[in-house]
Amino acid sequence: MKRTYIKELKNKKGEEVKIAGWVDVRRDHGKIIFIDLRDMSGKVQMVALPNHKEAHEAAGKVRSEWVLEIIGQVNQRPEKMINKDEELGEVELEITEIKVLNEAATPVFEISNNGREVNEETRLAHRYLDLRRNRLQKNLRMRHEVIRFFENYLSDKNFTEIETPLLTKSTPEGARDFVVPSRLYNGKFYALPQSPQQYKQLLMAAGMEKYFQIAKCLRDEDTRGDRQPEFTQLDLEMSFVEQKDVMNLVEEMLIKMIKKLYPQKKIQQIPFPVLTHKEAMEKYNSDKPDLRKDKNNSNLLAFCWVIDFPFFEKDKNGGWTFIHNPFSAPKSEHMEMLMKKENIGEILTTQYDIALNGFEAGGGSVRNHKTEALEKVFEIMGFEKEKIWQDFGHMLKAFSSGTPPHGGIALGLDRLMMILQNEPNIREVIAFPKTGDVRDPMMDSPSEISKEQLAELGIQIKKFNK
Ligand code: ASP
Repeated sequence: MKRTYIKELKNKKGEEVKIAGWVDVRRDHGKIIFIDLRDMSGKVQMVALPNHKEAHEAAGKVRSEWVLEIIGQVNQRPEKMINKDEELGEVELEITEIKVLNEAATPVFEISNNGREVNEETRLAHRYLDLRRNRLQKNLRMRHEVIRFFENYLSDKNFTEIETPLLTKSTPEGARDFVVPSRLYNGKFYALPQSPQQYKQLLMAAGMEKYFQIAKCLRDEDTRGDRQPEFTQLDLEMSFVEQKDVMNLVEEMLIKMIKKLYPQKKIQQIPFPVLTHKEAMEKYNSDKPDLRKDKNNSNLLAFCWVIDFPFFEKDKNGGWTFIHNPFSAPKSEHMEMLMKKENIGEILTTQYDIALNGFEAGGGSVRNHKTEALEKVFEIMGFEKEKIWQDFGHMLKAFSSGTPPHGGIALGLDRLMMILQNEPNIREVIAFPKTGDVRDPMMDSPSEISKEQLAELGIQIKKFNK
């Protein structure tokens, strides 16, 4: 007999079926034993009666989280026994056969509730159990739907999804790099990408014109509620575009996605309001203002764009550093100031950030596509010519090979999902996140490596007493 998914049982009244899944809860009333069985599609109440002797005996032995295959008959429940809170509350499966596919140790925590009472260390140490709970199953399945929507939407608009490398080069891009020692070139290191920024621009130099990627970004920063050392972006880049082209594309994509996948949510204002950085700071004292008119309404989404960011700010040593992205172009009317290195603090960039309910949901810019302009940015930051060519020579060379004007954006997928799923932090929408202090208690990482591995890498560990 072919397996039926539990969700289908409501269309199978009176039929004999085979289902499989996990024991959610079991209630033993002696003669009658109830077992709620759960699979990826839903949950159903089953009943074992003494007239099916073997099945009844087996039902007496099973425990929570055992994996069972069941043959039984789908019965309509009597009117007063219908459970209106459950999707399958109108049916019940009368068990005729139980096959135990696997037993389970007593779970370390409750799975049939939302798990908010369990401490996070314990949840993450047993993430495979934690992920069985309905809330997290839904989060991951909705995350998939959102990604699939974006992929289809962009593919329909002739974007190509292209993977870019994880082993790249350490360059000063804003955050601290995670580095990977090279075995073949002892003393040299790869860096994990902080974002695919340089590669996506090189793809524009390569004539791909429209690129996107569901991209992993790695930044060795201290974690916070809405930050993780590795996180996911919907990253995209387009050639021959201006600021408004990228903003319009992303705005339309977000609106359509929400209308399709989250019809219960209300977008406060369409088109999304656009604020200058100055306005946002003056009015809301934030460059990612929360514009919600009613902050108690969990289904209200207030997007806004923030533009006209200053390009540079003073760093702690009194020099200039970029605010968002060294590859951004200044606003066209400020290009001259950049090229002459004049009034540096007044140069505004083409950057656009998108904020949602007080969180930064994404950001991007139109890029400098001329060698001289990019060189100037690094000069302003005080880099020597030699250092500029050493770190970014590949970009400068690409720009002088016929690179079209281009621009792009990256949306933080984890934050977006956190807000859409009404979760308090991004760890609830990531399958295997790290703890607040950057560990994976399930895999026990980071971990030490063997002496042989260290020797091959030419690395000696000087123990730090922490
Ligand atoms: N790479 C940028 C970031 O990660 C986004 C972009 O400018 O496209 O913030």
